[in-house]
Amino acid sequence: MGRKFFVGGNWKLNGNKKSIDGIIEFMNAGPLNADTEVVVGPPSCYLEYVRSKLKGNIGVAAQNCFKVPSGAFTGDISPAMIKDIGLRYVILGHSERRNVFGETDELIGEKIEHAVSEGLIVIACIGEKLEEREAGKTEEVVFSQTKTIIKHTKDWSKVVIAYEPIWAIGTGKTATPEQAQSVHASLRKFISENASKEIADNVRILYGGSVSAANCKELGQKPDIDGFLVGGASLKPDFVKIVNARA
Ligand code: PEP
Repeated sequence: MGRKFFVGGNWKLNGNKKSIDGIIEFMNAGPLNADTEVVVGPPSCYLEYVRSKLKGNIGVAAQNCFKVPSGAFTGDISPAMIKDIGLRYVILGHSERRNVFGETDELIGEKIEHAVSEGLIVIACIGEKLEEREAGKTEEVVFSQTKTIIKHTKDWSKVVIAYEPIWAIGTGKTATPEQAQSVHASLRKFISENASKEIADNVRILYGGSVSAANCKELGQKPDIDGFLVGGASLKPDFVKIVNARA
């Protein structure tokens, strides 16, 4: 199938110019597999700095944005601004946005709709909490999150889904390749039934949650895992190994 492997690095609220210079150095040195789409997500105040220093084959993503182009929304940024500084990507609906900042499925759906309408590529995150998995509700939760994304997505060529079980984010506890593959396959079936088979066959579904240089190859071999969204390890030279998981 023609789904290009995609690896995103989410720097979250980390870094300063000195440490970012170090990341830029190892990213520019690579070498990065040309068959993989690579994107890094710095904090918003460093977006333009990172764009100006990174090689052009590496994309730069904002970690969030709002659902309108401009207005009285203190502290936020818009897709129009992201495009204005030369970027093409945004991460939306990360579990930290959902759970720390209280973003709802509906707000995330509206943000996705607006960002896509502005031409950005959206990395749309979903995932269940530990108690939801333990209660056997993983599919119910991720299907419900995905349903809202489907409702708001008018152009699927601009959306990449990131399945990130919350219990695996930043915990060192990775889903096994089988656990991840099972959810990814169910999601693809759900998208096929609720959007279309063509969309399901083409949409990239990334796995996120303690991906490391040690586990990326095995995860990356699963047929429905089309790449990764990486937090902690994207700040370290190991990120290059993760980018090259399928090389
Ligand atoms: C993330 O923040 O999207 C993430 C998956 O973090 P980590 O890789 O650190 O678990």
